[in-house]
Amino acid sequence: MKRQQFVVIGLGRFGSNLALELMDLGYEVLGIDRNEELVEEMSDQLTHAVVADATDEEVLKSLGVRNFDCGIVAIGNDIQMSILAAILLKDLGIKTVVAKAISVLHGRALEKLGVDRVIYPERDMGIRVAHQLVTPNLLDYIELSKEYSIVEMNVPACLHQKSLGDLNPRARFGCSIVAIHRDGGILVAPTAMDQLTEGDIMVIIGAKKNIEQFETILN
Ligand code: ADP
Repeated sequence: MKRQQFVVIGLGRFGSNLALELMDLGYEVLGIDRNEELVEEMSDQLTHAVVADATDEEVLKSLGVRNFDCGIVAIGNDIQMSILAAILLKDLGIKTVVAKAISVLHGRALEKLGVDRVIYPERDMGIRVAHQLVTPNLLDYIELSKEYSIVEMNVPACLHQKSLGDLNPRARFGCSIVAIHRDGGILVAPTAMDQLTEGDIMVIIGAKKNIEQFETILN
């Protein structure tokens, strides 16, 4: 199968790190920025890096942007530029357009333009770090909706060698352990027989209030 191709518009802090990670993951990345220095810095690390104004439709057409599978508008601070670039990517017919928003209103505007996924990196990272700071075993936190989330937590000593059947988080707390990371591998959809080991990482899904209740027994 053909590797997916990404075009990243704006190679600032967010866009450059996103582009580099996609490269690391083995995908093809075209980076576009109007800042020559940034493009030069990235040019030998991306498949292609081009100095261009992403609000110039003819330039985007000549770069063949319409043939990419996914376009990411990583311009945040200049909301006008972000919106113009998003409109052009949608008009060019790229299958999936993702855009970074720096405020709720910016995000709403992007959604109204039909952007497929709006991301709020600063807001989301702030929320994640806050949760990590107050919950000692918490490794990661992903908000699914206002009510639901997925968290990754270290298995503490008090759960060592407990089976999921003994622990029974679904009946006791209303949340489920959906995967366990162990020794570099992952056990997806563990059964009641599977045992936890101190140092494993468990992935829990459920309503936030239920996960919080579960967390109280871990401390
Ligand atoms: P970050 O906070 O991730 O660094 P910024 O919004 O500060 O994000 O950076 C956005 C990048 O997008 C900058 O490098 C800027 O040069 C680039 N950029 C802004 N407008 C355009 C445009 N019209 N065409 C191409 N690149 C642009």
